[in-house]
Amino acid sequence: MNYEILTVTPFAQNCTLLICPETKDAAIFDPGGDVESILAVIRKKGVNVTQILLTHGHIDHVGGVVELNEYLHVPVIGPHRDDAPLIEALAQQASMFGFPMVKTFTPDRWLEEGDSINVGTRRLEVYHCPGHAPGHVIFFDRAARLAQVGDVLFNGGIGRTDLPGGDHASLLRSIRDKLWPLGDDVTFIPGHGAISTFCEERRSNPFVSDSILGPGR
Ligand SMILES: [Zn+2]
Ligand SMILES: [Zn+2]
Repeated sequence: MNYEILTVTPFAQNCTLLICPETKDAAIFDPGGDVESILAVIRKKGVNVTQILLTHGHIDHVGGVVELNEYLHVPVIGPHRDDAPLIEALAQQASMFGFPMVKTFTPDRWLEEGDSINVGTRRLEVYHCPGHAPGHVIFFDRAARLAQVGDVLFNGGIGRTDLPGGDHASLLRSIRDKLWPLGDDVTFIPGHGAISTFCEERRSNPFVSDSILGPGR
């Protein structure tokens, strides 16, 4: 699987273009804003975007959905419906975080634990990982050993849990019981900051290393 990460919005959110190398079909993850730059990368790569995939409903991840889709006209898929209240409250999120006003939307499809998504010939598994946001999902390409984890886990950090619907204990459970079993060799693209591996986070992450959480399942 090929990918290109674009840093968007004042929150430096990682919007990812994931490309099937065989078909050149692609998915856009979390278009938080800066839609012109996202479109420029799509054009430069010459790919066929088939869907917009969302990890959770925070404005830095979904603020560009409506504007981007005025150009793409593709299905908007995810997150889990427990984030519906966050997406309905995008106007309040915009004023709270100092974002320009954006249009709200209803995803074409909500995701559940155990769902899967195809991007070209590649398959992404969906896991519901609440804690940072109640409807947060992550996407896992088992063959490529690559996960899109949004704001669940960062290189050296974890998602904040002080926003509406956040829950610290749930977040730790999501990381230990949903992410770690996918494998130590998994590379992950977080919602902010540099990529890393589960192995490295289990060794050195000050919030969720094995020495703090225990080895889990
Ligand atoms: Zn978030
Ligand atoms: Zn974020």
